Amino acid sequence: MSYNWEVNVRKVDPYTPGEQPSDKNIIKLNTNENPYGPSEEIKSVIASLDDDMLRRYPDATASQLVSELARFHEVSEDRVFVGVGSDDVLGMCFMTFFNSDKEILFPDVTYSFYPVWAEMLRIPYKLIPLKEDFTIDVPSFIDNGASNGGIVIANPNAPTGICLDRKSIIDIIESSPDSVVIVDEAYIDFAEAGASVIDLTTKYDNLIVVRTYSKSRSLAGLRIGYAISNPKMIKYLNDVKYSYNSYTMNYPSIVIGSAVIRDNDYFEETLAKIKNTREWFTDELKSLGFKVLPSSTNFVFASPQDGSARKIFESAKEKGIYVRYFNLPRIDDYLRITIGVDEDMKKVISFLKDFLTT
Ligand SMILES: *Cc1c(COP(=O)(O)O)cnc(C)c1O
Repeated sequence: MSYNWEVNVRKVDPYTPGEQPSDKNIIKLNTNENPYGPSEEIKSVIASLDDDMLRRYPDATASQLVSELARFHEVSEDRVFVGVGSDDVLGMCFMTFFNSDKEILFPDVTYSFYPVWAEMLRIPYKLIPLKEDFTIDVPSFIDNGASNGGIVIANPNAPTGICLDRKSIIDIIESSPDSVVIVDEAYIDFAEAGASVIDLTTKYDNLIVVRTYSKSRSLAGLRIGYAISNPKMIKYLNDVKYSYNSYTMNYPSIVIGSAVIRDNDYFEETLAKIKNTREWFTDELKSLGFKVLPSSTNFVFASPQDGSARKIFESAKEKGIYVRYFNLPRIDDYLRITIGVDEDMKKVISFLKDFLTT
C-alpha cells in the first residue's frame, strides 16, 4: 500500500538559525544578540506585569506599542506595523507585496532568510552579486529596475556589516517606482547617524523600512519587530496579517516593548559601548593579520590570513566560544563574530593568538 499525500506537501528547505546552547558559560557570539541585558527600569516593568492579562487575548492591534513607536519615529500611527520579530514582519511583507510573476531582487550575499521566504511562497527571485569588495552593486539593481517584482536590501547588510549610502538607496527606489522596496534596517542603530531611510517613507510610496528589537534593543527573546511605511502599505500588510493570525503580539511584548522605547538613555549608553568595543576588536583582529570588512553593525565579518576560518570556527567552539561560519560560496573563509562585552572579546583575541601561534 502506498500513500500519496506526500506529493501535496509544501516542501521547503528551512532557514538554519544559529545555535542556542543552554550552557551559560559559553561565550556566545554567533547570533548577534546584544550582550547587555535589560535595564533596571525594564526589569521593574517585567516584575509588574498584570497576571490577569495573561488570561485574556491581547489587544490585536497592539495599539500601545504602535503608538510608542509612532511617537519615537515622529510618524502617525497608521504608518506603523508590528510583528513577532522582524522575521515575522519581513515574511508578511513578502506575502503581501511580492505577488507577481516578476523576479524580486536581492544581493547574493545577504540575510539568508530572503531566499527561504521566496522559495516557500513561490516568489521568483534573482540574486544580484555583491561587488568584489562586498558592497552592493547599485547599478545592477538600477538596470533591473523597470522589470522587477520587488527589491530587498538589508542596510547595513548582513553578514558583511557594510552600510550603503543614502543616495544609492534613493537611486534604487527611484529606479523601481512600480515595485515595493523593502529596506531591512536590523542593524541601523549601530551605523552612522543619518543612515536610516525611515524619513523617506513619506516621500516614496513604494518604500517600507523594517526594524527589530532583537539587536540594538537587547530583546531578541521577546520577538518584536516593526515596519514604517505609508498608510496604504500598512493597511495592505494588516489585511494579510489579520487573514492569517490576528493575535501575534503577546501582552508582555506589548507592555515591555512600549517601555523599552522610552528607555532611551540606557539604549544610547549600551550602543556606545558596543561601538567602542567593535573598534577595539577590529584593530586587534587586523593586527593578527585578519582582513576585516568595515562594520556598521554589532558584529564583524573577518577573514584570517591563511584560509583557516573553518578551523578557527571549530576550534573556538571546542573552547566554548561560539561564532558564526557560513559554508557558502564567496564567504566560506570568513567568520561573523558578534560584539560582546569587553571581557569576552579579550578572551576571543587571546584564543586567536594561541590558535595562530600553535
Ligand atoms: C537578525 C536579523 C533579522 C531578524 O531579526 P528578528 O529577531 O526576527 O527581529 C532580520 N534581518 C536581518 C538582516 C537580521 O540580521
